[in-house]
Amino acid sequence: MKSNNAKEIVFALKNLLKKNKVEIIYKANVKKFIKKENEIIAVKLENKKIFRGKYFVLATGGASYPRTGSTGDGYKLAKDLGHEIISIRPSLVPFEIKEQKKIEILNGLILKNVKLKVLVNNKKELEKFGEMQFYKWGISGAIVLNLSRKIVDFLNGKKKIKISIDLKPALSDEKLTNRLIREFKKFPNLSIEKILRKLIPEKLIKICLQETKISFSKNVKIISNNEKIKIVKFLKNFSLEITKDRGFSEAIITAGGISTKEIYKNNLQSKILKNLFFTGEVIDVDADTGGYNLQWAFSSSYLVAEKLMNNEEMKNF
Ligand SMILES: Cc1cc2nc3c(=O)[nH]c(=O)nc-3n(C[C@H](O)[C@H](O)[C@H](O)COP(=O)(O)OP(=O)(O)OC[C@H]3O[C@@H](n4cnc5c(N)ncnc54)[C@H](O)[C@@H]3O)c2cc1C
Repeated sequence: MKSNNAKEIVFALKNLLKKNKVEIIYKANVKKFIKKENEIIAVKLENKKIFRGKYFVLATGGASYPRTGSTGDGYKLAKDLGHEIISIRPSLVPFEIKEQKKIEILNGLILKNVKLKVLVNNKKELEKFGEMQFYKWGISGAIVLNLSRKIVDFLNGKKKIKISIDLKPALSDEKLTNRLIREFKKFPNLSIEKILRKLIPEKLIKICLQETKISFSKNVKIISNNEKIKIVKFLKNFSLEITKDRGFSEAIITAGGISTKEIYKNNLQSKILKNLFFTGEVIDVDADTGGYNLQWAFSSSYLVAEKLMNNEEMKNF
């Protein structure tokens, strides 16, 4: 059934579990694995209850959006069992911007079909084409999120991060200048503000004219060549500085996690404890936006379940 509603998926999955007589225990926060030699024999809950089992699957998710239940517990549990944890960082995460006054003006603006360049210590390192969005504290949107993993690493390396937004990526500087001249000739009695309305959203006009120091009402007939150059420069290179990421509380995914080197790739079994398996975000696997992270959670869980059902789990030991 197609409903486009996430609740329907939860409903369907719960029904499947019920049909297969799987018991769900809610509010059962696992605090510790109890092991004997190289096997786990039980889990101990926060309320001190102990559950024994034959196999254990660690599927506790990452550390992002902790209000959804994934508080990063899995990393500690795996570390206590001797697994290496690759340092965790927020990813698919928005950023705060230094130029607070500009950002407040731009709050709510969505830019489509722009090119975003990331400059690290003034050298271009990354670029992406697509959609981005402004909030009162900074920037987000698909291209920002998809570049965020690398930007977070640059920020952690104490690098100075600037972004440059090309608002007209389909036009070269020369073509954009010619377009402006054409518009000026076609509408010689209009103000620069009115002409810019044909090119960029209103919120950006304010910033463009502030940065270029041109008056809103200035008639295009008296716009100088130097001013034209400044306008084109703004349209091709609107620059802002990133100060920090918005942290795990707003990161869609966690980068880092349980090292893949210590997990068998054929069935995601621990190389350290033979009846322990891992699935989903708790592993050091993260992807771009677009459904790839959910796909990884579903596919890795399917793989482990299938192998356990077919008793293929011990082949690695
Ligand atoms: C706001 C938001 C939007 C997202 N949108 C997308 C999207 O559009 N597409 C996409 O692909 N991905 C998206 N993601 C990412 C995706 O949801 C996750 O990557 C995916 O859910 C990870 O699945 P998981 O099963 O590994 O962990 P989770 O879904 O996080 O599940 C982990 C579970 O383990 C439980 N748990 C944690 N610790 C313990 C413990 N100690 N004891 C017992 N239980 C515990 C948690 O309560 C939770 O129920 C989004 C994430 C967020 C936060």
